[in-house]
Amino acid sequence: MSFNAEAVRADFPILGRQVNGKPLVYLDSAASAQKPRAVVEAMTRAMEHSYANVHRGLHTLANETTDAYEAARQKVARFIGAAEGEVIFTKGATEAINLVASSFGASLVEGDEILLTEMEHHANIVPWHFLRERKGVVLKYVPISDDGELDLAAFQRLLGPKTRMVAVSHMSNVLGTINPVIEITRMAHEAGALVLIDGCQGVVHKPVDVKEIDADFYVFSGHKLYGPTGIGVLYGKAERLAALPPYQGGGEMIGTVTLETVTYADPPHRFEAGTPAIIEAIGLGAAIDWLGQFDRIEVARHEHRLYQRVREGLAGANWLKELGQAPDKGAIFSFIVEGAHAHDVAQILDRYGVAVRAGTHCAEPLMRRFGLTSSARASFALYNTEAEADAFVEALTKTQAFFS
Ligand code: PMP
Repeated sequence: MSFNAEAVRADFPILGRQVNGKPLVYLDSAASAQKPRAVVEAMTRAMEHSYANVHRGLHTLANETTDAYEAARQKVARFIGAAEGEVIFTKGATEAINLVASSFGASLVEGDEILLTEMEHHANIVPWHFLRERKGVVLKYVPISDDGELDLAAFQRLLGPKTRMVAVSHMSNVLGTINPVIEITRMAHEAGALVLIDGCQGVVHKPVDVKEIDADFYVFSGHKLYGPTGIGVLYGKAERLAALPPYQGGGEMIGTVTLETVTYADPPHRFEAGTPAIIEAIGLGAAIDWLGQFDRIEVARHEHRLYQRVREGLAGANWLKELGQAPDKGAIFSFIVEGAHAHDVAQILDRYGVAVRAGTHCAEPLMRRFGLTSSARASFALYNTEAEADAFVEALTKTQAFFS
């Protein structure tokens, strides 16, 4: 049965809004997705009915909240095919990558190499720069083609005996390129390197099985997956996590503490210092439950149809340049309007109720690779419709007229 986006929209009160007197056309879900009522209600219910701090209580509410928090961990684990102890809650993907760079990075020495790609988000570049600055670790980058595909032959050449970590996005937040993460992981492991996959976009648009990918680490943020902000996930293979030192110190992550000594808890708690984002974890669990009602392959097909519809609608537009046309790509449409700054394009589109993002998309090296300082981006989610794709094409065509 094909996916019915119109029916899904009823779960998102915000999508009924008007913006500048026009029906909202929200095409900025790659930055942050809207939340279904089920998520909002699960979070409210927790706060109104069963809330206390987790883990350290013996009273009923503390136990109920602990159960709900740990149930959210189980839901995440099932969602990505991990074991429960392999799921660490973080503030988001950014914190998850910083955690790995810091804890794994502690064992690195000058001259060790980290292999990234030209299409990474700053969240998967800057934490590694810290290691370059602080330890003399060398950063290398897999180049991409003009279509936005990773150059796997160059990747193979760049992999060497000093490569300690390959950190690569599952799906580019700018180009939409879906990287062959299974193959990348296999090649990296053959070279003796570990692998971290930035799944921020990938996990939203593809069913993910971390065991099939076989990466050592996989990270994502809740807020792009129809869940709340303030919660993200670091998946790590059990044996990798067991070997990592803690990231932050504080409550919950210890074994015992004396005035002279400290021992640490086992993963995942070793990496969850302090009171975690309890309500947000419950919200993420609710988002995953909610997503469970859909055939995710059908959802991806629906999103891709919208992307194709936009491309076809703009096929004759000689004033438009699309960024990223890899054969395997998700529903992200990044573009430049000739003679117009992307910020102006986004602001004019907003007058028509159309929300797109413009700027560097936290990927300055990628922008530079294409000789650009910015681009605009329309990103599609499961609640977008064909009528919205058409409304975007129409609004963009009118917007272009301002510059011609
Ligand atoms: N990686 C990618 C590919 C992203 O799209 C984003 C969010 N734009 C991030 C990392 C960072 O996610 P967050 O800001 O939620 O930590």
